Amino acid sequence: MSVLNDLAQAMASGKIETIDLTAPLRPSTPVLVLPEPFGQTATFQLEEISRYDDRGPAWYWNNIKTGEHTGTHLDAPNHWITGRDGDDVSQLPLTRLVAPAAVIDVSAQAQDDPDFLLEVDHIKAWEAEHGPLPAGGWLLLRTGWDARSGSQDEFLNTDATGPHTPGVSVQCATWLAEEAPITGLGVETVGTDAGSAHSFEPPFPCHAFLLGAGKYGLTQLQNLERLPATGALVIAAPLPIVGGSGSPARVLAMVER
Ligand code: MN
Repeated sequence: MSVLNDLAQAMASGKIETIDLTAPLRPSTPVLVLPEPFGQTATFQLEEISRYDDRGPAWYWNNIKTGEHTGTHLDAPNHWITGRDGDDVSQLPLTRLVAPAAVIDVSAQAQDDPDFLLEVDHIKAWEAEHGPLPAGGWLLLRTGWDARSGSQDEFLNTDATGPHTPGVSVQCATWLAEEAPITGLGVETVGTDAGSAHSFEPPFPCHAFLLGAGKYGLTQLQNLERLPATGALVIAAPLPIVGGSGSPARVLAMVER
């Protein structure tokens, strides 16, 4: 007669399936690359301390090197100058990290146009079919981009004019920040903003508006195609890096079957 007992039983029986939305962390995990003269994030690296050898005869362990924004990760409000006085990644309320998800699938559009941008009208059409976006929940943008995550080049999709990856329009980012009841935006791409968002007015509107409004970003998600449009519960677990602007995160979704 307990909600948690019922949940545990439903998980054990397979009535509730837990899906990993996290990309594996390895040196080849794609990372954002900024143009000169900006600083660069680190790729993920293991530095072996010992492996059942003279340095530690019975144990294997590593140090890790990573950017806060490497692989599947969470952007905290203080990542952007608009949110500089907002929470760091260690301060995020757990009630916002475990939250329902709405999944909007634009993978067909993004396949035809890698610069595809989500507009408010797309969300309004989704809401007409599925109901309002969940209050305090995540909006997850399914683009099919996770299929490219095995290759840095395919994932960033950069040519002479810059990166070309799907994202969100300036107007839609404003709406998500100011009017939508969401806790944050999750994407399959290397960042929450479109590849071409450096040229938007203002640049990087998802970062500027959502983080400035105290909302969060989740990036480089995978397996979103296994989630229903509504009804999944997302558990986003960034490391509590004190003062940090983000963290690699294990992101799970629980789905009722
Ligand atoms: Mn980031």
